[in-house]
Amino acid sequence: MNYDVVIVGAGPAGIFTAFEMLRCGSKQKIIIIEKGHAIENRSCPKNKTGKCMNCKPFCHITTGFSGAGAFSDGKLSLNYEVGGDLPSLIGENLAQETINYTDKIYLEFGADGHVEGLENTDEIKDIRKRAIRAGLKLVDCPIRHLGTEKAQDLYYSIEQYLLNNGVEILFDCECNDLIIENGICKGVYAVSGDRHMDIFGEHIVVATGRRGADWLDKLCIEHGIAHTPGTVDIGVRVEVRNEIMETVNRTLYESKLIGYPLPFKNKVRTFCQNPGGFVSQENYDNDLAVVNGHSYKDLKSDNTNLAILCSHNFNQPFNQPIEYAQKVGELTNMLGAGHILVQRYGDILNGKRTWQNELMQSNLKPTLPDAVAGDITAALPYRSMVNIINFIQAVDQVVPGFAADETLLYSPELKFYSNRIRMDKKFKTSIPGLNCLGDSSGWTRGLMMSSIMGVLMGRGLAENG
Ligand SMILES: Cc1cc2nc3c(=O)[nH]c(=O)nc-3n(C[C@H](O)[C@H](O)[C@H](O)COP(=O)(O)OP(=O)(O)OC[C@H]3O[C@@H](n4cnc5c(N)ncnc54)[C@H](O)[C@@H]3O)c2cc1C
Repeated sequence: MNYDVVIVGAGPAGIFTAFEMLRCGSKQKIIIIEKGHAIENRSCPKNKTGKCMNCKPFCHITTGFSGAGAFSDGKLSLNYEVGGDLPSLIGENLAQETINYTDKIYLEFGADGHVEGLENTDEIKDIRKRAIRAGLKLVDCPIRHLGTEKAQDLYYSIEQYLLNNGVEILFDCECNDLIIENGICKGVYAVSGDRHMDIFGEHIVVATGRRGADWLDKLCIEHGIAHTPGTVDIGVRVEVRNEIMETVNRTLYESKLIGYPLPFKNKVRTFCQNPGGFVSQENYDNDLAVVNGHSYKDLKSDNTNLAILCSHNFNQPFNQPIEYAQKVGELTNMLGAGHILVQRYGDILNGKRTWQNELMQSNLKPTLPDAVAGDITAALPYRSMVNIINFIQAVDQVVPGFAADETLLYSPELKFYSNRIRMDKKFKTSIPGLNCLGDSSGWTRGLMMSSIMGVLMGRGLAENG
């Protein structure tokens, strides 16, 4: 099988590569190889069963057309300061221009016209004043909120656009290795059921997302693809009543706060805030259960959830951050008998575990019903735990009630940012013919940033005809 461009992974990065090539009038033969299903065939059984079924061979939340984006609530961050370090590679102006351009494509395919967080009202000024007093930075980030259901419709339209314009998409097909001859990447080996394929291309684009990060790390070692150890974020998903977050939810939708709490002064930040949202469980292929959160456009809960994350880097003598975070996750899963652990903030301060019946004594009812009450402090590293506790105390000065005894902390919330692939501004790796994109490249960590990386890749490839 021969193509001009072979894209591995149909997440936003891969999709927008093909999309922008078409928009630029490219006539090249493009194939996308995707391990999961077409978007219309993706469904998470949890909607019916109420609990995670740990689907095999892959999780439908993160795998399939549109990648991890399809079932996310689709919050498009419209500021280049949010979503990864790509701007440091391509320049802040180009990053912002491409965000503005890509946002118009999302609008064209049905995204909601409303943008949250554009105003600078007295209420926002007051939030910022309190953040300054608490030693926290409030990052301005306008957000276009697609909503989980709407995101699926939107990506379905893009899928149809690609198919109708001649892009071939192989679903349920997993790429298992690169074909490298004389130091040049010539194609990929892929498997679909019993069918093994050698797929050749002039340009190979690997965009396998966070779920493909381990696999890509392995390829980096096997094929000598230049990279630097990435970062992992270890943290918790915090859930509070909507009443506590009311002002922030109304005025900012998402409060992006960054702090460097004592004694470690590590960067700690809030991430992925879901007003009226639901805490969810994701399972990685190696059975690791991690916590996440999302919100629907119409269906609302009484609670708001958000992640609090601490970044960890390692160099000497240990440089495997992903393995480190996995061990933390495994330990937490072990204590929760394979489930997500949840503990009340007050119990953490009082040095006791939370019991299941105590969860029912609060105003706040967990939105992840199969989470197991327990002791997250028995699994989280000391440094992470202290960072989280001190950060929560600071956020309490901005959002009074945030550090209430009944506030729920779910664990493990882990973000694996794969090893950072060394690349030039055209996303060329140290192996000629091979490009890496999106979350698996280590340069992005969000829908918009991975989408713009795809757009820029597509433009570059379209120059070849
Ligand atoms: C529950 C959840 C909620 C989120 N909410 C938000 C949000 O609100 N806002 C935001 O900005 N970001 C959010 N994110 C993150 C966002 O979805 C990702 O940053 C984004 O999807 C990354 O895009 P990508 O194209 O790099 O990778 P992905 O979207 O992960 O896509 C990679 C694709 O590659 C496929 N693949 C992997 N390995 C192989 C292989 N070997 N062969 C073939 N195919 C393969 C996968 O099946 C997947 O479809 C959320 C993520 C999750 C999981």
